Amino acid sequence: MTNEEKTTPTNFIQNIIQDDLDTGKHSAIQTRFPPEPNGYLHIGHAKSICLNFGMAKQFGGKCNLRFDDTNPDKEEAEYMHAIEEDVKWLGFEWNELHHASDYFNHLYMYAVKLITEGKAYVDSLSADEIREYRGTLKEAGKNSPHRDRSMEENLGMFQRMKEGEFEDGAHVLRAKIDMASPNMNMRDPALYRIKRTHHHRTGDDWVIYPMYDFTHCLSDSIEGITHSLCTLEFADHRPLYDWVIDEVKAPCHPQQIEFSRLELKYTITSKRKLHQLVDEGHVNGWDDPRMTTISGIRRRGYTPASIRDFCDRIGVTRKDSSIEMAVLENCIREDLNEHAIRVMGVINPLKVTIENYPDGQVEEMEAQNHPQNPDMGTRTVPFTKTLYIEHDDFMEDAPKKFFRLSVGREVRLRYAYYITCTDIVKNEQGEIIELICSYDPETKGGSSPDGRKVKGTIHWVSAEHAIDAQVNAYDRLFTHPNPGSTDNYIEHLNPESLTVLKNCKLEPSLANANTNKHYQFERTGYFVLDKDSSSDALIFNRTATLRDTWAKLDKQNT
Ligand code: ATP
Ligand code: MG
Repeated sequence: MTNEEKTTPTNFIQNIIQDDLDTGKHSAIQTRFPPEPNGYLHIGHAKSICLNFGMAKQFGGKCNLRFDDTNPDKEEAEYMHAIEEDVKWLGFEWNELHHASDYFNHLYMYAVKLITEGKAYVDSLSADEIREYRGTLKEAGKNSPHRDRSMEENLGMFQRMKEGEFEDGAHVLRAKIDMASPNMNMRDPALYRIKRTHHHRTGDDWVIYPMYDFTHCLSDSIEGITHSLCTLEFADHRPLYDWVIDEVKAPCHPQQIEFSRLELKYTITSKRKLHQLVDEGHVNGWDDPRMTTISGIRRRGYTPASIRDFCDRIGVTRKDSSIEMAVLENCIREDLNEHAIRVMGVINPLKVTIENYPDGQVEEMEAQNHPQNPDMGTRTVPFTKTLYIEHDDFMEDAPKKFFRLSVGREVRLRYAYYITCTDIVKNEQGEIIELICSYDPETKGGSSPDGRKVKGTIHWVSAEHAIDAQVNAYDRLFTHPNPGSTDNYIEHLNPESLTVLKNCKLEPSLANANTNKHYQFERTGYFVLDKDSSSDALIFNRTATLRDTWAKLDKQNT
C-alpha cells in the first residue's frame, strides 16, 4: 500500500473542520482543552486531550490549555500542576496557557455591557425562589419581580455586588432571555454570583464570580477558538453559548461541537467520584495504580503511546457508549509486547537444588532481551546450583497434560538446561519447600544433542544472585461493569483489586530498573518499577497480565 492509499479513520469533527478550511471560513484552526482544576485528569479527559490537540496537529492549527477556574471552592494549584504534567506526558504541547480567571476584568466589562443594553438584570430572589420561578420542563417559568429594574439601578447594584456591599447569595446577575423557553438553560440563567471565597490565583480581589456558561464561551472567543469541542451534556447549553457571544458582540464566534463522553467499563470517569475514592481512603491517592486517572495509569505502567492509540481506536462520535476495559488493556499489551524488555522474575518462589551441578559454579547464560527483536540485544543471567522457580510450576500429583515439573518429569529452564525432578522436601506441615533435581550438562542453551524433546519451558533465577522485590498485582477496581450507574458504587469496589506479593525473586539485571523502563517478566505479565521503590526495597507494579483474564466474565455481562 502506498502512502496515498493509506486512509486514516475520519470522524465527523474532522469533516467539519476540513469543510471550514475548504470554504475559507477559517484559514487556520484553534482549539483548546479546558479542564477545571478541581481534581486529577482521568482517561475520559485523555479522549478530549487527544481530540483537541490531535485536530490542531492534524490541520496545522493550534491548541491552548485553559484552566476553567471560576469555582474557587473546589480548585487548587496542586491540580493545575498535575494537569499540566499529564498533558505533557501524553505527548502534547499547548500553544498558549490560559486561565479563565485572567479574563475576570474582561468578563466584568461584558456583563456591564449586557446590563447597559437591557439584556441582564440583578435579581434579589433567594436561590430557592429562583428555582421555584424557573418552572419545569412542562411548565413555563415566571418572571422575577426584579426583572424590570431600570438599567441604572442594575448597573449600580452590580457595581455594589462587585464592591462587596452585599452578603453572599443576596443577589445574582441574570441574563434577560425568556422565562418560557423550552430550553431551561435559556430561562434567564445566572451570569454572576456573590461568593466570598479565596481564589488560588486572584486571591481576594473578587467577591463575585462569573458562572461557567458565561465564562466558557467568552474565554473561547477571547482566545480566538474556532472549534469549541465539548461533551454531549453541553448540547443543551449551546443556545446560551451562542446567545452570550452574539449579545456581547464578542470578537469571534467559535462553533461549539459536542461529542460523546468516554465511559469505560469497570471504572469511573468522573472527577467527583474519583475524589470520593481518594478522600475516603478506598485507594492510596490520585495516582494509585488502580485508578483510571492519567497519573494512576502512568504509575501502573501504561505508556503515552498506548493511551493515544486507545483514543484513536475508540473514535469520536455523538453516540453514547461504554467501552470494554479490554480495549484499553489490549492497547497496553500490544505496546509492551513490542517494546518491553524480557526478564525473568519469580513471583512465588520454590527452591530448587540441582544435585549434580558443581558447588560454587556460576555460569553466565546468554538471554535475549526480546525474542522477536534481536536489535534489543542480549544480557547474561547467572546460573548456579540453587535456583528459584515458580511454585505453580511444580505439581506433586500432576495430570498427564501438566507439562511442567513433577517428580520424574523433565523440563527446560529458559536459556539454560534441561532438569529432571528427582525428589521433594516437605516441612512439618507437609508443604513442599524444596525440589531436588538433576540437570543434563549436554542441554546447555536449551536443546538436547540426542534430539530429546521436553514440552515445558519454565523461568528461574539463581538464589544467590536473585534480588528481592515486592510485586503489587493489580486488578480492576470495580467488579461491576458500570459502577457509576449504581446507587452506591463504593459497594462494588473489587476487594481483590490489589494483591501484595512480598517475596518475589528477580534476576539481577532488574537492579537497574527505573520507573520509565517497562519489563515483561516472562510467562507472567508486564511490570514497571513503582515510584515508592528504593534500592533496598524494590517494588514493581504489574501493569497487565499477559492475557485477558476477564474476557469470559465480560462476555457474561454483555
Ligand atoms: P468530571 O465530571 O470528571 O469532572 P468534567 O467534564 O467536569 O468531568 P472538566 O475538567 O470540565 O471535567 O473537563 C475538561 C474537558 O474534558 C471538557 O471539555 C470535558 O468535556 C472533557 N471531558 C471530561 N470528561 C470526559 C469524558 N469522560 N470523555 C470525554 N471528554 C471528557
Ligand atoms: Mg466540569
